[in-house]
Amino acid sequence: MASVATATQSNLAHAAPDQPAKGTVVLRGVTKRFGETIAVDSVDLTVPGGSYVVLLGPSGCGKTTLLRMIGGHERIDAGEFLLDGVNTNDVPPARRDISTVFQHYGLFPHKSVRDNVEFGLKMRGQSKEARRKRADEALAFLDLTAYADRKPRQLSGGQQQRVALARALVTEPTVLLLDEPLGDLDRLLQLRMRVELRALQRRLRITFIHVTHNQEEALAIADQIVVMQDGRIQQVGRPQEVYTRPANLFTSGFMGDNNVMPGRVSATEDGQVWIEADGLTLLARHAGLSLGQAMHASVRASAIVAQPMTAEGVAAPDDGPNQATATLVFLEYLGDVVKLHCRLANGQMMTAKQAERERSWSGLAEGEPVRLSWGIDDVQLLLG
Ligand code: ATP
Repeated sequence: MASVATATQSNLAHAAPDQPAKGTVVLRGVTKRFGETIAVDSVDLTVPGGSYVVLLGPSGCGKTTLLRMIGGHERIDAGEFLLDGVNTNDVPPARRDISTVFQHYGLFPHKSVRDNVEFGLKMRGQSKEARRKRADEALAFLDLTAYADRKPRQLSGGQQQRVALARALVTEPTVLLLDEPLGDLDRLLQLRMRVELRALQRRLRITFIHVTHNQEEALAIADQIVVMQDGRIQQVGRPQEVYTRPANLFTSGFMGDNNVMPGRVSATEDGQVWIEADGLTLLARHAGLSLGQAMHASVRASAIVAQPMTAEGVAAPDDGPNQATATLVFLEYLGDVVKLHCRLANGQMMTAKQAERERSWSGLAEGEPVRLSWGIDDVQLLLG
């Protein structure tokens, strides 16, 4: 199968590289209530035209509701939605320059693939001849020509997803909304399709807003990740920013593999702070904190070096901050990486993650003592 990145040229690839990208989405104080539930709570967000933005958060955080308001499938209770500077709150879905790929695709089971793709054009009142021509171009663009006369149930999950994409793109939107687009696919197809979605967005140069609860998918695909919880935005940033510099306790916990512990400032000096966290001493870079101030400290699992106590150069147990003696409780072999679940003297668990190929973990055994250490720049303080 040819990938969407190499499919034949068609008028779908309409944006010239030197044109300013359209499809800028601005949300100001956007709110949605369902009875007592505030699904989306006064959200402010700017999505630059031509960017790939992922709304990421746990089930029920309001990401689908936000997407549906942008698509016009849910009414905005309060606030303002601007598309390329124009208030679009009350514009019906078919009159917005926006298309949606719905969760589970929402294809019409009794219509052929071609009729499914033509549907959006029919809604826009296009002639049969014009519809046919553009639908066939969209099918060719997504490498689906051979399946045009089949019914959706005669296609694989990946093919159905491409039909949903063709149906959404045939109207040449400036914004494409994707609600959990990879959720129905097996893992290998997910990995392939996320590369293809990214390539498709780069090629079309339109705005993609993609909803998922999958952190890895968001990190892999997004220009900007919008982390949501309880109807509110917790953090907006590039994948590397959100992963390495979580803004608060929620993001730090949600992005996974962070060791988060409550602590208090015990000393400060020249932009460095010492944190006491239940028997552990952490040293971090931070200015402007006061003695006794409470916060959470976060250390990424992949930043922690785990060594056998007998290894050369391993420091004495009470030798300075950013290290601990622990017991290796469980060694989790995951292929590319190995996770080491360790119990500290204070009873808390700490997880270290090492690349499988480094093999430094191979001298460690479950039930044996292990020395954990990390650097000053690996300690992130969460004040919010
Ligand atoms: P998921 O990943 O499970 O789809 P989500 O983050 O997309 O979750 P939403 O579907 O936006 O979350 O739901 C946000 C909140 O609004 C939830 O508490 C949900 O129960 C509620 N909600 C959503 N749609 C409706 C509705 N039509 N009627 C009542 N409550 C709703």
